[in-house]
This record gives sequence, C-alpha cells and structure tokens, in this order.
Amino acid sequence: MSVEWLKRWPGLCRDEPLSRHSQYGIGGPADFFLSVNDVGALPELVARSTVSGVAVTVLGAGSNALILDGGVRGLALRVTDKRMSVGDGEVTVAAGAMLPRAALDLARHGMAGMEWGIGVPGSCGASVWGNAGAFGGGVATSLISCEVVAPDGTTRTMTADDCAFGYRDSRLKRDLLGHIVLSGRFAVARDEVSVVRARTAAVQAERKRTQPYGVRSLGSTFKNPPDDFAGRLIEAAGLGGRVHGGAQISPKHANFILNVDHATAVDVLALVELARDEVASRFGTVLEREIVILGEPAELAAGLRSGP
Ligand SMILES: Cc1cc2nc3c(=O)[nH]c(=O)nc-3n(C[C@H](O)[C@H](O)[C@H](O)COP(=O)(O)OP(=O)(O)OC[C@H]3O[C@@H](n4cnc5c(N)ncnc54)[C@H](O)[C@@H]3O)c2cc1C
Repeated sequence: MSVEWLKRWPGLCRDEPLSRHSQYGIGGPADFFLSVNDVGALPELVARSTVSGVAVTVLGAGSNALILDGGVRGLALRVTDKRMSVGDGEVTVAAGAMLPRAALDLARHGMAGMEWGIGVPGSCGASVWGNAGAFGGGVATSLISCEVVAPDGTTRTMTADDCAFGYRDSRLKRDLLGHIVLSGRFAVARDEVSVVRARTAAVQAERKRTQPYGVRSLGSTFKNPPDDFAGRLIEAAGLGGRVHGGAQISPKHANFILNVDHATAVDVLALVELARDEVASRFGTVLEREIVILGEPAELAAGLRSGP
C-alpha cells in the first residue's frame, strides 16, 4: 500500500478518533481521515485510493454505524457538503446534509414530500445508501435519482429503479459496494406552509412519544421481522433495561441500545448478541441487524495499523 500521495492531501488528519464523528460517541481512530466538502475532488481521491490499495470507509453522521473500538484502517472520509437546491417539483440534497434539517427547511418554504426526514437523524448520503425511512415515508418513496462515485472514480446517475430499494436496503449495500453517494434528487410539491409544518411536527411528536430521545443511540438495532416488531420481541424476552458496561437496552423501546455511560463497541455488541440469542431461543425468530458495523475490534487493530 502506497500512501505518500495521501499524506500530502490537503486537510488530511492522522489517527483521528472516530468517536468524534459518531452520534453514538463510540469508535477508535482512523489511520487517515478527511472531511470532504468539495465533492469535485472525490473521484480523484477515490480512484487514487483504489489504485494504491488504500481502503476507503465513508462516514455519514454516525447515527446508524457502530464503529468498533480498534477504529478504521486506511482512509475514513466524511462528505460534509450540505447544499440543497430546490427546482421545479424536486429538491437536490447533497450527501452531507442532515435529513431533519432538510425536512424543516423544505417545510418552512411550503415544499411537501420529505416530512418523513425529520424522523431520520442522519445524512442524505447514508440514508440513500440504506433506504432510510420513517413513519410511512422514506427514500424509496421520494427519491428520483442520486449521483454516485464508483471506486474507480467514475461518477454516474442512478435512478430509484437502479437502486433496487428494499427494506433498509439498496443495491449500494450489495453489488455496488464502495460506491459513494454524492447527492440525492427527491420529488417535492408545493403545499401550504402551515400544512407541511403540521405534518413534520406530527412525525416529530410521534418519534418523541415512541423512541428514547436526547440519549445516544443508533436507532433501531434490528430490522422488524415480518408481521412483528423487534422491540416487542426483545421486550418480551425480558431484556428491556438490561445493562452491559456502559450500554443499555432502552427501557422505553427495546430495539434501541443506548450509550449511557462511556460505552465501548464491545459493550454494545454484547447486548446485540444477547438480544439476538434470547429472541431466537425463546421465539424462534432470528433478528437481522439494522445497524452497520465499521472498523475492527481493538485486539485486531494493533497489528494492522498503517505504518508511519
Ligand atoms: C434516535 C434515532 C432514530 C432513528 N430513526 C430512524 C428511522 O426512523 N428510520 C431510519 O431509516 N433510520 C433511523 N435511524 C438510523 C439512521 O438515522 C439512518 O440509518 C441514517 O440514514 C444514517 O445516516 P448517517 O449519516 O448517520 O449514517 P452513518 O451511521 O454515518 O453510516 C451508515 C452507513 O452509511 C454509509 N454511508 C455514509 N455516507 C455515505 C455516502 N455518502 N455514500 C454511501 N454510503 C454512505 C456508511 O459507510 C455506513 O455504512 C435512527 C437513528 C437514531 C440515532
């Protein structure tokens, strides 16, 4: 792996603690870290990384990714472009824009269609990647197309059909691994400001009523199995409120695992495994993880850090 060119890249940080880039406050260091606001530079950065064997991990707002305690080898990058531009019946949202902010701004201007975004405290790029959605709406129902950059540095437009969205799933998670979303184009329509605002407020109120609020979490730990709810099953297994180290299964919504006291990724994973095992053995349902795991366990990382 040749990294001399990367070390000269403007703004490059070494050994950046990724807990700083995670809403969960958990995660070891990245060998190399870049905040990328100028997405025009991404194709070259990504292509050069691929050619020189530098692994690239893209971070969003860290509201769905558990970054392991050993951190990330190679380059972790975060797209910080937050621009939003409204056109005729559509809005283009840059990858780094937060969806709740976009939903609020659109509501203030009487643009309907993205009210669900207030319930997804993540970035646009990651939300397209994972087909995020909340309270009846979501990426799959609103997205017209997105711009992506492939590991070889080529950019292209993908329509919603190209993305083949499923439940918290898209082609970007499967056969297009390593593609980075640069922006999304979403359908919106004019409506009364008061009406759109009322809908965003309703989504927000429902979220506050049903989910732990103001505490560190990654949202739903597991996907809901067909015709049931992961939270209901974990609660029924008697695990609501269970603590391991600094992590706790939320007593309010058992599908949320909270960082209540300087939790490590190991603490969180212990509760993930406990919930999966207990639900499987009691009810015969195998829960599928919704949260994403990035990086390496601490014990592995020591031998793998990129040299000076
Ligand atoms: C309190 C709470 C409530 C939540 N409620 C919901 C909900 O109702 N519905 C829902 O769907 N989610 C919900 N989530 C989960 C989360 O907000 C979404 O999954 C969101 O889309 C993640 O965005 P992020 O920027 O935080 O992604 P991150 O956690 O930073 O990253 C998630 C994944 O996306 C990848 N990624 C990041 N940026 C890009 C990019 N530009 N291109 C390609 N891949 C990228 C990362 O590599 C990682 O694999 C909730 C989370 C919390 C904390």
